[in-house]
Amino acid sequence: MELKVLGCSGGVGGQLRTTTLLIDEDIVIDAGTGLGDLNLQAMSCIRHIFLTHSHLDHITSIPFLVDTMFDNIKEPIIIHGLAATIDALKKHIFNNIIWPDFSRLPDSEHPVMQYQVMELGETIELNNRKIEMIEVNHIVPGVGYHVESETGTFAFSGDTTTNDTFWDALNKHDKLDLLIVESAFANKDIELCHLSGHYCAELLGPDLAKLNHKPEVYISHNKPGAEGLIFGECQKAILTHTIHPLSSGQSFTI
Ligand SMILES: [Zn+2]
Ligand SMILES: [Zn+2]
Repeated sequence: MELKVLGCSGGVGGQLRTTTLLIDEDIVIDAGTGLGDLNLQAMSCIRHIFLTHSHLDHITSIPFLVDTMFDNIKEPIIIHGLAATIDALKKHIFNNIIWPDFSRLPDSEHPVMQYQVMELGETIELNNRKIEMIEVNHIVPGVGYHVESETGTFAFSGDTTTNDTFWDALNKHDKLDLLIVESAFANKDIELCHLSGHYCAELLGPDLAKLNHKPEVYISHNKPGAEGLIFGECQKAILTHTIHPLSSGQSFTI
């Protein structure tokens, strides 16, 4: 399984892109600004989008993707997410005001995109890649994913603050090779972390200690400009795992 990081920042500016993880050629987890860096050929290969939650930095490229691919799509792109996430897309994005309702275009029998509600704990298997949805703790209903192929496993936290659900679910699996977990803010913004449902190093350290596996851990979703500070604080606070910074363009064979 190939994992390519198209975006993993908390914002934009220069080379920064918001969350998009490409699995092989056909699956993405989240559709942030990083998705827009794919060329048309690569975009046409995307068949499934798994969303962690409804926030704009994670969904912003869906409207442009389906519009750009409109003439080339033979089968709908499937948008997987919690019912609350799908409802938000229907109500606030594809509402014929902000953007056309592409789930009914060119016609409702053959749309270019199709919603598929997923339940917490559900696993979907696509060509030997098993994708499990796991509850996390964000300011809107949010999830992370555990992805398993015949050769390896990785997990992605999405946006979250302190929780047990994500760590408990990962501990139920036999192994974990790679983990991407967010740490959005510096420790001085711990109150903001509580209010907005994000980690800082002080909150992430004790939570990572709940994880029984010892994967390589990559830190994502940093506030632009604070990457160095956040990573330094994570190095001090995380005593149980080896951590690395994550940046757009990195890829992993798992
Ligand atoms: Zn969010
Ligand atoms: Zn976010």
